[in-house]
Amino acid sequence: MQACLPKDVFKSIKNTIQTGGKLDVSIAGIVAAAMKDWAISKGALYYAHVFYPMTNITAEKHDGFISVQSDGSAITEFSAKVLVQGEPDGSSFPSGGIRSTFEARGYTAWDVTSPAYVMETDNGSTLCIPTVFISWTGEALDKKTPLLRSNAAMSKAATRLLKLLGNTDVATVNSSCGAEQEYFLVDAHFAHSRPDILLTGRTLFGRPAAKGQQFDDHYFGAIPERVQVFMQDVEERMYRLGIPAKTRHNEVAPGQFEIAPFFEAANVASDHQQMTMTILKNTAKKHGFICLLHEKPFAGINGSGKHVNWSVGNATQGNLLDPGDNPHTNLQFLLFCGAVIRGVHKYGPLLRAVVATASNDHRLGANEAPPAIISVYLGVQLEDVFDQIKRGDVKSSAYAGVMSLGILTLPEFPKDPGDRNRTSPFAFTGNRFEFRAVGANQSVSGPLVAMNTILTDSLIWMSDHLEAELAKGTALQDAAFTVLKEVMDNHSAVVFGGNGYSEAWHKMAVERGLLNLPTTADALPVLKEKYIEELFERTGVLSAAELESRFDVYAEQYIGVIEMEAKLVINLAKTVIYPAAFRYLSELAASISNLKQIGIEFEQDSAETVAALTKRMMDTVSKLDNAIGNHDFATVEEHMQHCAKTLRPLMDKVREYADAIEGNVADDLWPLPKYREMLFIK
Ligand code: ADP
Ligand code: MG
Repeated sequence: MQACLPKDVFKSIKNTIQTGGKLDVSIAGIVAAAMKDWAISKGALYYAHVFYPMTNITAEKHDGFISVQSDGSAITEFSAKVLVQGEPDGSSFPSGGIRSTFEARGYTAWDVTSPAYVMETDNGSTLCIPTVFISWTGEALDKKTPLLRSNAAMSKAATRLLKLLGNTDVATVNSSCGAEQEYFLVDAHFAHSRPDILLTGRTLFGRPAAKGQQFDDHYFGAIPERVQVFMQDVEERMYRLGIPAKTRHNEVAPGQFEIAPFFEAANVASDHQQMTMTILKNTAKKHGFICLLHEKPFAGINGSGKHVNWSVGNATQGNLLDPGDNPHTNLQFLLFCGAVIRGVHKYGPLLRAVVATASNDHRLGANEAPPAIISVYLGVQLEDVFDQIKRGDVKSSAYAGVMSLGILTLPEFPKDPGDRNRTSPFAFTGNRFEFRAVGANQSVSGPLVAMNTILTDSLIWMSDHLEAELAKGTALQDAAFTVLKEVMDNHSAVVFGGNGYSEAWHKMAVERGLLNLPTTADALPVLKEKYIEELFERTGVLSAAELESRFDVYAEQYIGVIEMEAKLVINLAKTVIYPAAFRYLSELAASISNLKQIGIEFEQDSAETVAALTKRMMDTVSKLDNAIGNHDFATVEEHMQHCAKTLRPLMDKVREYADAIEGNVADDLWPLPKYREMLFIK
């Protein structure tokens, strides 16, 4: 930008990005011309407004720079108007009732705070401009608009609190995000022979291989060379787009890997995350893989999540979630951390709702990923400090000391003040919170919006209370601890440092009044609760209509996914598994009777087993078929419950029989690639 723009225009744009201030639209013409020249110099002939509809995907509409003149000649053109605003015919994107198709106008508008980029494919390049997507009445139809709003609201609330703490110079506060992405790679030859993987992103059938993850030999193991070549290709593409890829390693399950970028401003990180998912999928194809971002592609081994690391900070006060060496004296940290604790307790069900998808339901609470109960892990040191706050007597921060390894040639190193806790959905990890319940396939925007918004609500509450205390003449430190004590008195129930997978916690959580919302059908209706509607309206992040439209869209997606999967279960059971079982049965029957004729009596047990399993499978298929036919629901909530409580268990039952059949049928007759073939890339 600096190289391409006149100095004052560059300064103006930079200022808007850094302060979240008003965009000076008069500079758009100059920016557009510079962008066009830059993009054309990189070989781009087209430009696209990129936007993020509620479907989780990235959408783009491409237009050529070329413009035909009245005399038949052609010029390249890219005006301020087309940079700033676009009008894709977005009528097919779900709006949850905000628009009807006859009033389908939707607009995209330039988001100057997220850098434009040139996307290269084998046959050319496209200038991509990140945009928001709104209806013609100005309602958000996308994931970016509320993210920008939530960030602005959070900044305002954080600034107010920072000023109350005596800071005079307070820069705009921004949220940051670093999202760790887990994924599976499957050889494309196998994936292409699995209709379930191609259509649903996961295996609807498949018997676990004899070898799974029991040896822990894949986690952080040497990366297979073929995979490493793929990863390097991915990283190269990411760097070219300005996405700071940083970490790569094998994950727990065989065939599972992870990539993490260096963290960035939440809005930019979110756009970059969407690009990362696209790059992973596209690059995999070039290397003969299919990249699966589904949360549970394979039964019996770990699924994939996306840990969303989140913090807030600014240029003047730094990272507001940095505890420093003496957290018990760091009022700024304690107030911001306390605000998060209060928010997670008050709005835990919202955090559950924003990670609720049909596919993530397979993972949450399955003893490999956090439970569907939202709690906060603080680590030993901070838990102790907040306990002291609750007791009203804050004295010290426990030190972990240094670790001596007893070997002089090795360095001594300081112990971390807190361990890690893999079982917590929402963990403090040194200078940020890590929201671990997010699904691998999900946009990170929803979770970021929720975190920013609940923090905003808490910060406003804190400032109100702090101001009231200060007005009584209380000294700042005492006032802050009074407010913090009130937070802990009311909200410490959400702090939990133990094993989140255990039965004991599930019981204890109920006693503490924390909600366990195991399925999307249970969690999504939270979006319709009055207190959630008020939260979003009060903070200006989503209007009631916008929130309701989100519920409608997500509920419809949930039902759509489960019904589609159920149909495929029926189809594959009838046309792939049943015929395989039957062929094997005929073979067995013929052999048994042939042997009898030459005087050899052979056992019939295996034939009987396969026959019985096949019959039971087909009975369950009929039940599932009937259950799908049921469309008689008073509400969408009821329909979702039908999916969760009737369809899903029947699908699982069909699978159970099918997988047992797989374990009994001759390998050469089994038509679907097996787990042992798909999962061990060499
Ligand atoms: P781990 O697996 O130990 O959680 P990783 O290095 O895989 O760690 O990922 C940690 C992620 O957290 C990275 O994307 C990193 O950039 C990000 N991160 C680090 N500090 C912050 C911060 N202050 N705010 C937000 N994200 C952060
Ligand atoms: Mg992590």
